[in-house]
Parts: sequence; C-alpha cells; structure tokens
Amino acid sequence: MYSLNTPLETIKGIGPKLFEKLSKQGFLKLKDLLLFLPLRYSDRSEIVKISNLEQDKLITFKAQLKSISGFYKNRRRMDTAVMEDDTGKVKLMWFNNKFISKSLIVGKTYMISGKLNNRDTITQPTIELDKADTIHTGRLVPLYSSTIDIQQGSLRRILRNITTQLENNSKIIDAIVQLHFPDSEESIITAREQLALEELLSLIKTSEKIKEHWKHLKSAEAISLSEPQIPNTIPFKLTSAQQRSVKEILSDLQSFIPMNRVLIGDVGSGKTVVAGIAAQQVINCGHSVAFVAPTKILATQHYETLQKLFPKIELVLLTGKSKLVKKSGSRQKSEKWQSTNKKTNPPDASKLYIGTHAVINKLDKIKPGLIIYDEQHRFGVKQRSTGGNIGNDSNSSGIAATKTLTPHTLTMSATPIPRSLMLTIFSHLKVSFIDEMPAGRKITKTWIVPEEKREASYEWIKKELVDESSEPVDSSNPSKLALIVCPFIDPSNHEAFENIASTKETYEKTKKYFSNKKTMSTSTNKSKLKIGLLHGRMKKEEQNKIINKLYQGKIDILVTTPIVEVGVDLPTASIIVIQSADRFGMASLHQLRGRVGRAGQQGYCLLFSESNSSLAKKRLKQFSQENNGLKLAELDLKNRGSGDIFGTTQSGFSQLKFASWTNLELITKAKQTYETLPKSWKPFFDIPNAKDKTKPLAN
Ligand code: ADP
Ligand code: MG
Repeated sequence: MYSLNTPLETIKGIGPKLFEKLSKQGFLKLKDLLLFLPLRYSDRSEIVKISNLEQDKLITFKAQLKSISGFYKNRRRMDTAVMEDDTGKVKLMWFNNKFISKSLIVGKTYMISGKLNNRDTITQPTIELDKADTIHTGRLVPLYSSTIDIQQGSLRRILRNITTQLENNSKIIDAIVQLHFPDSEESIITAREQLALEELLSLIKTSEKIKEHWKHLKSAEAISLSEPQIPNTIPFKLTSAQQRSVKEILSDLQSFIPMNRVLIGDVGSGKTVVAGIAAQQVINCGHSVAFVAPTKILATQHYETLQKLFPKIELVLLTGKSKLVKKSGSRQKSEKWQSTNKKTNPPDASKLYIGTHAVINKLDKIKPGLIIYDEQHRFGVKQRSTGGNIGNDSNSSGIAATKTLTPHTLTMSATPIPRSLMLTIFSHLKVSFIDEMPAGRKITKTWIVPEEKREASYEWIKKELVDESSEPVDSSNPSKLALIVCPFIDPSNHEAFENIASTKETYEKTKKYFSNKKTMSTSTNKSKLKIGLLHGRMKKEEQNKIINKLYQGKIDILVTTPIVEVGVDLPTASIIVIQSADRFGMASLHQLRGRVGRAGQQGYCLLFSESNSSLAKKRLKQFSQENNGLKLAELDLKNRGSGDIFGTTQSGFSQLKFASWTNLELITKAKQTYETLPKSWKPFFDIPNAKDKTKPLAN
C-alpha cells in the first residue's frame, strides 16, 4: 500500500529518468502527483458495434484481434491489425510504434478508441485489453496538461496504480480519485465541490491561525501623523474611495500592532497613488518602505510613476541580482541599483525600495516600517512566510531576522471578490475597497473583429494613431499608443497551438503593414508609425530600452505578450488589440483591457479569435459587453462546466484552485462547516501548497 508521503521514485512505473523529470518540477511525493489533476476529460464511455462506426467521430468499441503485422514503408514502421466483432471487421493502423505488435495477442478481446477515416481505417487508435476497469477507453478518460513531459497513457497508468494502491481513509482522497477516474459527470461535480469546500476550510484555518498570532504582535513602529499629506505633485483629485482608503491605512499605521490590510480595487481604480501616500507618510516618520511588484517591468514602472507623483521621496529600484549597499563604510553603489538620490538627501534618509521578490530577501537590511505588495492574488498567506515575524520561523529570510520590528503590511489586488466574502474567509485581514473609478474615465469600447475585417481595423488604428486633431491625453507626451498582444513569443509547431499568434511573427507583419505604407492623411508628418517589440525573453537592457521609449512617446505600436497584463500603466495607451483572444481567461482579458484609456481618453479593445468553439465565442461576447471585473468573474463561474475543472486557476482570478470567490453559497457553507470542526482538524491542502516557491508554513 502507498501513503500520501510515499516517495515517487518507489512507485511502480516511475523509473529514474521519469523521476528526474518529476522532481525537477517539484513532484517528490505521491501527494504531489495525486494533486496533478486532469484538465479535461474525453468521453469514451459509449461503446458501439463495428457496423455502427461513424467516420471522423471519436468512437469506442470492443472487438477481437484477428491479425497484426508490421512492415516498413519509406523507412517508416507501420503496423496494421484487423479487429472483428459480431457485426463486422475494421482495420487499425499505427505509425512508428515498434512495441505494438509485441504487446497485442491475436485472439484476445480489446477495447479500442479512435476515429475512423475515409478509408475505413482507424489510425493511431488507443487500445487496451478488455477488462472490468479500463483506463484509456470505455469511460470518461482524464486528459492532463503537458507540463510533465510524459505520455498521457503512461501518466494514466501510473495514476491508476497510485489510486488503487493508496491507503485511503478520507473523503478528500475519494474525491481526488474520482477526479482522476470519474464514475460519471455528476461524480466530477460532486468531487470538485468537495475539494472546493476543503480548500476554503483550509484558508479559513490558516487565516484564523494568523489572526491569533497577529494579536500578540505589538512590534510595529507606530507612525505618528496628523493629517494625510497629499503632495501637490499629484495631478488629480483623489476619488472619495481613494481618500477613504488612505484614511483607513493611515489609521492602522498609528498602531503598534502591525497593520495587515488589503486594498482591493478593479484595474485602473488608482491603487498605486494610495500606496504611495502611505509610503510617503512612513518615510516622513523616518522609516523605509519596501514595495514588492510581481514583475520587473512593473517594478520599473512603479519606480518611474512614483518618482513623478512623489518627487520628495528617495526611491531605490532593486532588481534580481542587485547587492545591498553596506550599512556603514563606503556607500559604493552596485550597478544594479538605480536611485533617485540627487545628493540632496542625507545619507541615511529613509527610502522607498521598489523591486520584485528580490526585495524580500533584503528585508533584514532595509528594515522597512511598511511592506507593500502589489498585484497579489494570494491574500494573507504570502506575508506570513515572507514578511511577518511569525511563529518560530527563525531562519526565514523575512523580517524575523531583525527581531525588533514587524513591518506594517499592505497588499494590493484587483481580485474581484465581494466584500462580505472577503471578510468571511480572511478574518485576519482588514480590507479597504476602492469601489469607484476616477472621474471622467470612459468605458473601453470592446469589439470582436472578424478575420475579414482585420485589414479595415488596421486602417482604422492607423488613422486613430495619427489623428492629431484629438486632445492629447498627456500634455508632456502628445502621442497615442496601441498595444498588440499575442499569447506566445515564438510561433509554435505544436499541433494544438497552430495558428496561434506569436509576437515574433506579428511584429514582422505589423512592421510591414504599418511602417511601410503611407498613411491616408498625408498632411501629417507621422506617416511612418514606429513599432516596438517587448517580451519576457528579451534581455533586460533591451526591455528597459523599449520601456523608456514607451515613456518618451517614441513608440506608436507595441507588439507584446501578456507581460503587459499585470498592472502596467501606460497613460497614452488608447487601443489594445488582443490576438487569439480565446486563449486568455476572462481575468487576463480584463487585466489587458485595463491597460488602455487610463488617462481618461476613450479606450478601444479589439479582439481577434480563430476559434470556432461556441463556448469561446460566448465568453468573448460576454466579455465585450461587460466592463466590471466582479461581474466578469461571476460569468466565468457560470461558464464552467464539468469539462474543465481548473476554472479559476486558468482564468487567473485568484489563488483558489477549486473554489470561486463569487460562489456565495459555497463560501457560506464553508464558514458554517468550519464552526463545527474540532480544533485539532488538519486541512488536507497545505497553504501555500507544495509546488509554491514560497516557504512552507512553520507550525
Ligand atoms: P490600479 O488600481 O490598476 O493599480 P493605477 O494606480 O495604476 O491603477 O492608476 C491608473 C491610472 O489612473 C494612473 O494613470 C493614475 O495616475 C490614474 N489615477 C489614479 N487615481 C486617479 C484619480 N483620482 N483621478 C484621475 N486619475 C487617477
Ligand atoms: Mg496597479
């Protein structure tokens, strides 16, 4: 018998080579692989007779093997077999499968799944011996993502072995087994609900623990202040939701009990400036602030933005390899540092340190009074393992090392989550909601553009970009920017990804299309539009070059990947074109669309899609008609069928794998169930889970 902790290398079917692959991806124990759940199912449960086989349709039938033989054609191995049942015969054919003829036995009965072609042959069929519990045919067959480089069939066999040999004493394990090898569609739904409930219970438990711990913390630096200081360099008036949030945050900062607050607001609602005001206040009181962004691009962007809005703060941009300057001695700057220090600040002035997670490794040196996490989808969990001085987590790289000071924590997120639900699950957090958009913000017009109108839409973009009669969105930067987003960097040869737009191809095409032709309006001197390319695999210097050009208005059209999805603020961006839009989840689309019209100009979002799937079309239509992130999340939940079980992670709305923030019913049930659990109850899911890079909780 196996247990959840059985090391994967001891499991039947996992040899040293496969184990190496698995362990590289963080799969070490049985539980890790067990939680690698199928993405979808192929319904092969209906069994037909040979005489009823239809062409080009995935069918399953049971038949006896009459003969099998192999031969070579153009140095290619081919194997053909003849199968027979009481209604007729059919031919099977395999290419380059040396093992097939050895593994099948003439006279035995098999189950076969495949598609009949117009020559009455089934090529590359799935075949297995007919027995009571088939795993590849005659049932709902699990299909897994290709993250692990292993054949679907082998993975299924390994998981089948695991699930039948596993010592099982819990409903949760039953549910997981059902998700791998479901008895029916209903059992998938029931199992998924079971896991969703368990997941919420785990979150509540974690939250309660943190709350309990936090209560005893009295180690924050209280920030004394009278009135919020809003510098006159901020070129707009704060919305009342922003003002309220500022007040709530500042009031928390006055306490010795460290703040643990989340600032929630839809994309474009103006969270950055709120965080900036809090940071300035803390800095004015003589403490540094750490600002953690999810990507380098966003960190760089915040550095630029905050510099403009808060010119009095000294900012330091930290990137991956930067070394922190020694506290005493020569203050030589490592070249990876970028600082706004203009020698006007005293050497030990408090600073705002901005960077990616690299910042967290430097917390013991920075000793921040406040940590700000931007664009987090995980609430209250990450802080614990990284920022907060929790439990006996003494070797944590977090603030624990400083012993004396626990920083206040502010987490910012665009996760669409209703207020009441947030409070139900995360009792340890306080929440500020920015539920109002800055005045004058226009709703981005969203269109699904059919392929035949592509050229026409490009003509329209060109006209929009060179139209100088319209009001400039930014007085210092009168240009307009269009973004073209593609799901991939490189063109893909993978069968499933053919025809999906890649940045490289699109960049070439866009350059050809936009920079060569003269534009229609001849009066303008912008007859050539400048095209830029930005993606995550470019060298950092190149990325920076492009970003700087963007700020200077030297790029008219940026071809990019979803790298611009998270948080990036390009005020002159007015048009976003999303290629292969069906490949993006609703949350990603919403984030992407949130990149345009941010300075109050009319924004446009053009969606292209080659997909014929009716669900994909429906989703895009809904997206084009709805602008509210919370409503989109609700639609996303409704659209989820039993087919795709990882709705939320794929759509990217949150940290949840099974549950959904908008599922009021389930969240209420979780809260009620939680009250009935014994204190000793242990959640099945570790939070953060095994494959997270964050450290496990010390408890
Ligand atoms: P998000 O909440 O998505 O992080 P940002 O903080 O990046 O949004 O703000 C989006 C844009 O709106 C920025 O260009 C910012 O300068 C602008 N902005 C923020 N608050 C206001 C406001 N009260 N009035 C006008 N513009 C604002
Ligand atoms: Mg933001």
